[in-house]
Amino acid sequence: MLKPGGSLIGLGQKYGLKHRKKFTQVHTLLKAKRKCPECGSLKFGREAVGIWACKKCGYKVAGTAYDVSL
Ligand SMILES: [Zn+2]
Repeated sequence: MLKPGGSLIGLGQKYGLKHRKKFTQVHTLLKAKRKCPECGSLKFGREAVGIWACKKCGYKVAGTAYDVSL
């Protein structure tokens, strides 16, 4: 069931507003489109915690859990 204002995916009323805001922030970061520094493809994203990879050319880089620092 989707609730109105869909950015609070999966958390509902379980946590306080502060935590939900934080979650939304992290979620947005994770979902944001990134360019692969190697081939410029937007298929670049987090493969695992701390590992970011390009699905097009296979380029991998270590980053933080929620963002990549290049
Ligand atoms: Zn690439």
